Amino acid sequence: MIFFQKSKCCVCAKDLQALKLRKSYRCKMCHQDVCINCSENRVKVQIPQNQLYAKPNDFVKDFNLPQRVCDNCFRDYSYYQKLIQEYGLKWNTRSLLQSKWIGKQERKIKIQIGISESDREIIDKDVITGRSEAFLFNYSLREFITQCQEGYDQTYIRESIIKVLQLFVTHYPIIGYCQGMNQIATILLCVSDEEGAFHIMNYIFKQIIPPRFYSNSQGATLIGYQAELYFLKTLLKSLNLQNFDQLSNFLDVSGPQMLLTLMLQVLNTSSLLVTWGEMFKRNSFIPIDQAIILSLVQASRTFDLTKQGIIEEIGKNIKYSDLSQIFSKEGAYFTSFERQVQIEQYYSQTSRSWVNNEKLILFRLKKITNFDTEEILEIQNEFKKYCMESRSVSISRHDRQSIKQSAQLTDSSDDDTDYLQNLQIQQVKLQKYGINKEAFLDLMEQFHQHQTKYQILDRHKYELVFNLFDENKTELLDFREFLICLSILLRGSFEQKLKMFFTAHTGSSLKDQEFQTLLSIIIPQDLQSQDEYQSFLKRIYKPQYSYQDMLQVSQDPFVSDNEYKRERSQTSVIIAQSLNHIKYN
Ligand SMILES: [Zn+2]
Ligand SMILES: [Zn+2]
Repeated sequence: MIFFQKSKCCVCAKDLQALKLRKSYRCKMCHQDVCINCSENRVKVQIPQNQLYAKPNDFVKDFNLPQRVCDNCFRDYSYYQKLIQEYGLKWNTRSLLQSKWIGKQERKIKIQIGISESDREIIDKDVITGRSEAFLFNYSLREFITQCQEGYDQTYIRESIIKVLQLFVTHYPIIGYCQGMNQIATILLCVSDEEGAFHIMNYIFKQIIPPRFYSNSQGATLIGYQAELYFLKTLLKSLNLQNFDQLSNFLDVSGPQMLLTLMLQVLNTSSLLVTWGEMFKRNSFIPIDQAIILSLVQASRTFDLTKQGIIEEIGKNIKYSDLSQIFSKEGAYFTSFERQVQIEQYYSQTSRSWVNNEKLILFRLKKITNFDTEEILEIQNEFKKYCMESRSVSISRHDRQSIKQSAQLTDSSDDDTDYLQNLQIQQVKLQKYGINKEAFLDLMEQFHQHQTKYQILDRHKYELVFNLFDENKTELLDFREFLICLSILLRGSFEQKLKMFFTAHTGSSLKDQEFQTLLSIIIPQDLQSQDEYQSFLKRIYKPQYSYQDMLQVSQDPFVSDNEYKRERSQTSVIIAQSLNHIKYN
């Protein structure tokens, strides 16, 4: 599959036919046409490891001989050769690049693999059917990976990828495994050993990727990803590119390949490593966004974006030097402030859509909670009233505060800017319809005054619950989040609750004491006084509980026999009343 015509040199863009160049070539790496002046270098192209599946590199007649490549590919190749030498990159081998990226991380990890059957199956399936093999990467990464893997057999390579993914999934069960992680793990194993790859992966997912990027939360799938996409589109619009509509469609279709795999499926090796390096240095997702914008701006000039398979061609156009230049400026396309405003705006918009009492919204809410439509309407109504009133209160309070603060401002213009930016972000946040932590805690207190049947949690526990459901970490539960939270808290099954508290506490494991506390919250008090409860505790005892162990516990007969009846009547009335009550506090 080759998408270009022999017309222009891929480096200098000279018209090859008009010049009547008798001698033009095809670059043996990127497979693009190139003029003689722009292809003076030769390198040894890797033999694809598994010829059976390999994308044919038909242009190479003899893999033992150095091949003519274009200047772009030569620059890319030289870059990673230097890296391979400088850092001693080799498959599943600890290299210096790791500490350059994420510092010296604790190297001891407990290898307790209690992975769920479904995760295990899907990881095995992805890796063993070859979804992590070098030949599936783009033209440049394929060469880089093959070179790092040289000398190791396929079984060993696959085993190490599987080990990293299993480790990651068991330590991060809330996210679980998503396709694309296998490719991330493959690249990481080129720069570190299994343990290191696991640490870098952890770092990426916990420190760099915005919250809830991969979340499959009910009713708002991949909400962090959607917010990022919204931001990128708004930005592209403001750049006034000629074919904005095309670009926007392109982003809708190709967004996952650019965003979810951190540009891995688009950029060539040098550009990718420069982008990732910057991302680790800044500890931020912004370099990825900048790289996407640069790629799209370049692509919009060169390519017909409606053509199939174009995403693979884009990276051939991007030079790492251009990317480095972009990263050296703080606001090449946008500043972190501008990004934040857009992201907050997206969350504001979605939060407002959930208090809408349109049929479709109600239908969606009904589907993801265990309240019926009437109950939802009742709570929604009070929730909306609450939001509107608390908004006007907090805006006036905010105004007063800002006047006070500006009086105290120093002369420093930096402080001024920070302050004004902060103010603007706060204003966008105020557009949101939601309930904040304080109000949520008050509400739960109110609720319990009416309803003693439920186990009352202390404020700290409710804070954990709040944080858990505050998916996009905006310190505000929008109506969807709020309703899901209540529906599990008040009407959830034992297993749902256990999952909820477990994940609120930790992402990995609990000590036996902590776990018993957890059980004492979830299991009704009258059941706890029974003898059976003690033998149940003995039966399930473990010094340490992983997520999988915890799921096992919910299969215990004590739990399934006693799965207590969930209160259905009146709850919604009391919630609505409580909301109404806290409004005036
Ligand atoms: Zn040329
Ligand atoms: Zn090339």
